Amino acid sequence: MTAAQETLARTAPLVDPFGRAISYLRVSVTDRCDFRCVYCMSEDMHFLPKQDLLTLEELDRLCSAFVARGVQKLRITGGEPLVRRDIMKLFRSLSRHLVAGSLEELTLTTNGSQLGRFAAELADCGVKRVNVSLDTLDADKFRKVTRWGDLDKVLEGIDAARAAGLAIKINAVALKGVNDDEVEAMIEWAHGLGMDMTFIEVMPMGDIEPSRYDQYWPLSQLRARLLDRYTLEDIDYMTGGPARYVRVRETGGRIGFITPLTHNFCESCNRVRLTCTGTLYMCLGQEDAADLRAPLRASKDDALLLQAVEAAIARKPKGHDFVIDRTTSRPAVGRHMSVTGG
Ligand code: SAM
Ligand code: SF4
Repeated sequence: MTAAQETLARTAPLVDPFGRAISYLRVSVTDRCDFRCVYCMSEDMHFLPKQDLLTLEELDRLCSAFVARGVQKLRITGGEPLVRRDIMKLFRSLSRHLVAGSLEELTLTTNGSQLGRFAAELADCGVKRVNVSLDTLDADKFRKVTRWGDLDKVLEGIDAARAAGLAIKINAVALKGVNDDEVEAMIEWAHGLGMDMTFIEVMPMGDIEPSRYDQYWPLSQLRARLLDRYTLEDIDYMTGGPARYVRVRETGGRIGFITPLTHNFCESCNRVRLTCTGTLYMCLGQEDAADLRAPLRASKDDALLLQAVEAAIARKPKGHDFVIDRTTSRPAVGRHMSVTGG
């Protein structure tokens, strides 16, 4: 290859075998969390030894290599991303790609517990929108669902984020017998504060104590119920993620539906996921993964790393095969959501 061809190859967008361009990288910066949500983790989770984690500088180098290859959107997630020590250094350094115009969006998914401390600095780093996960507005239920969380602290975090000018999307996992009696109240609360509200189907990832079958509430049923009270208008609003949106005529706000079980949107998947140890998962619902830590550490130059990234994207599967029913007791994948992030 000539030098010019090599430069071209190093900057060409990443496209998988099904013609899907990879424009979105989600990065789990820690598998640790200050909550233990019942659908996400078991109570006595074992976490990775801290020395196995990539440094913040290594995470920056990996993200930057993806940005150089056409990734337009970076989502920092976890575990709880805001409990990783010095995490704002990573946001600060990645913000240079926003300034340079090579990255469209730097964002995060958080449980909100630390937003009070970090919202203003996130906004200063160019973050415009955050996803806050919140499954209930009832303080007792909140404690039961998160096992360790404090609702007031999360609500304070949301206030701080709003005051800092961040747009907020509330993400709630639809949970049978937990929040099925309050989805309308949550929608009206979120829309009253100008926030989008998205519901997510619980996914069979990692072993947990409760049965996922008992938790699973298909969004087709939730949506049918909303029609008793609201007029839902289909809109083509997209945020680059898997949610499909409607506008609620009565509130003027938006509701998103993430339906990996009842209707997957794998055909338009533009995402890959990186763990805090440098493992790249090409699909949330499949076990196949590629180690990027070894090529990252093998040389200061990114050539080996980019070769490994290209080889991984060439194996991105067509889609996932999540099933939750009475007879399927094993999770579809062994790892918990906190490993690859939401
Ligand atoms: N700790 C942060 C938070 O809760 O937003 C970020 C990581 S968390 C793994 C990301 C998202 O995944 C959250 O919205 C959470 O509700 C969701 N989640 C976790 N386990 C899930 C599961 N098994 N099925 C569906 N969503 C899940
Ligand atoms: Fe922590 Fe988020 Fe998992 Fe809850 S969903 S345990 S907040 S990583």
